[in-house]
Parts: sequence; structure tokens; C-alpha cells
Amino acid sequence: MQIVHGRAGRPVEQRGATFTGVVWGDPVLPSTDGTTVNSVTFTPGARTYWHHHERGQLLVVTAGSGWVCPHGEEPQPITVGDVVWVPPGERHWHGAGRDSIMTHLATSLGTTTWLEEVAEAEYAAIDAGGAVK
Ligand code: MN
Repeated sequence: MQIVHGRAGRPVEQRGATFTGVVWGDPVLPSTDGTTVNSVTFTPGARTYWHHHERGQLLVVTAGSGWVCPHGEEPQPITVGDVVWVPPGERHWHGAGRDSIMTHLATSLGTTTWLEEVAEAEYAAIDAGGAVK
């Protein structure tokens, strides 16, 4: 068992190279036995690059609202309380809406492979309302 006390020694970090826009990450559980937990806050318009996770990723939206998008599909809206399971190897992006923040608790399993930036034209798919569910 490992108990992580508060945020001592692990300051919130601004994320850069694999994100578009201003994104803050709170390292809740530094990588342990292949599991990494971050509370990530996306400011309006901010999002990840395209990427995938070796053994999948669990997202729990804890504040605001935003979008998650599997490759080849329309973006899907997510809001507080929504839970997303991203299967191993599924290419996707996630981020805020244009006029909202979005904070999610992200539990990532295994390594994350980062790909190219989500182009503005791809992000603009949210303006059409995304996937009809
Ligand atoms: Mn992800």
C-alpha cells in the first residue's frame, strides 16, 4: 500500500509539448506500477494532442465540461460526473470546450504514446455539436 499525502512535493505543473492551449496537471499519484493518476485542468479551447494508452485510461470529469474524441468518430460531450473508459491502444483526444474549463481525474495505465496535434479543423467539429447520442 502506498498512501499519498496531499500535494506535498508535487507541485501543479503547466503542461506543454503534447497539449494545445493552457493545461495544468496535478500529479495525484506519480507513476506507480504502471499506473499514473493526474487531475488535469484544461482552460477554454485547450486539449491534448492525439494519443493512445498502452493499457487504457479512465477519465472522471470533476469540473466543467468538455469533449472526448475517438479517432474516426465525432467528438462526444462530457460533463461533471461522466466517466470514460478509453480502451488500450485507442487513438483519441480530450479537452475543454471553447467557453468552458474541464477538469478530469485521469488514470492512465501503462505508457502513453503521443502523436500529432489536434488540428483546429478537427477541434472545430465540436462546433457542430459533436456526436448525437
Ligand atoms: Mn487519453
